[in-house]
Amino acid sequence: MPTIGFIGLGNMGAPMAANLVKAGNAVTGFDVVAAARAACAQSGLEIAGSAKAAGETADVVITMLPAGEHVRAVWAEVLASAKRDALFIDCSTIDVTSARAAHALAAERGIAALDAPVSGGVAGATAATLTFMVGGSAEAFARGKPILERMGKRVVHCGNAGNGQAAKICNNMILGASMIAVSEAFVLGEKLGLSHQALFDVASASSGQCWSLTSYCPVPGPVPASPANNGYKPGFAAALMLKDLKLAREAAATAHVKTAIGSHAAEIYDRYAAAGHSASDFSGIINFVREASK
Ligand code: NAD
Repeated sequence: MPTIGFIGLGNMGAPMAANLVKAGNAVTGFDVVAAARAACAQSGLEIAGSAKAAGETADVVITMLPAGEHVRAVWAEVLASAKRDALFIDCSTIDVTSARAAHALAAERGIAALDAPVSGGVAGATAATLTFMVGGSAEAFARGKPILERMGKRVVHCGNAGNGQAAKICNNMILGASMIAVSEAFVLGEKLGLSHQALFDVASASSGQCWSLTSYCPVPGPVPASPANNGYKPGFAAALMLKDLKLAREAAATAHVKTAIGSHAAEIYDRYAAAGHSASDFSGIINFVREASK
């Protein structure tokens, strides 16, 4: 069993690392926050005094950090003293440019690397049912897959360095835009005297159907498990949706692609978050649409 160095023990990293321990891996973890380190010691992780110390004897180094700048800094620090045959896997959601820069840092040292962002949220991290979208060479993917499978239920190879991040932000750009479109349709339906259930029954079996409608419906009732039935508690917080839409907008600018709807979705979520709703579920955007329509 490979030994693991796990850096970034926050809302996602802590349960992911705990699942590796449960699967029988020896895991040495590090986080800059003392409370995060202490909580993980209780789940059976060995706690290191620095990121470097967590990584230097590990066969596999996993990072789960807030943003690209953190990943680049931690990888630069840890790669310098890592084992030559180690595998580095970044599971954070970060910009494609930083992901490719991190791969390049690893390549300079001849160390294999993967970008492997996730979907499934804290619930998926806890239940080990995450989906991993993975970028990197076929050889690195073959080495990383069995480790990722201990933390998730689906591991998809999306191509070369950075393509995991590319898949993640393209998917979430669809998600943000479709949630706004579904919300606008429900609010328009309300104004036109159409019941939520009638619109759901028609659209879910017609060409308007999509995940935002059928699995995560933004009005209470039609999909009992959706956050709309639970006061719009996340779920997937609006702040994280905004982060991903901004990453998509940034990638589109770099790639010279005109993503008019995706960019507009980022602006709408920006206003929603600025109005004090960043901790609400992203489907709460329907209330914002309704408010703006009064
Ligand atoms: P979090 O803020 O709870 O955890 C990040 C952790 O990294 C924190 O504990 C922080 O102290 C630590 N950290 C920051 N800089 C560090 C450094 N230099 N060295 C060591 N530790 C450091 O965030 P999270 O919710 O766990 O998310 C982590 C990543 O996963 C983010 O990129 C996020 O976008 C992505 N993600 C989150 C969710 C979710 O539902 N929370 C879902 C999918 C993807």
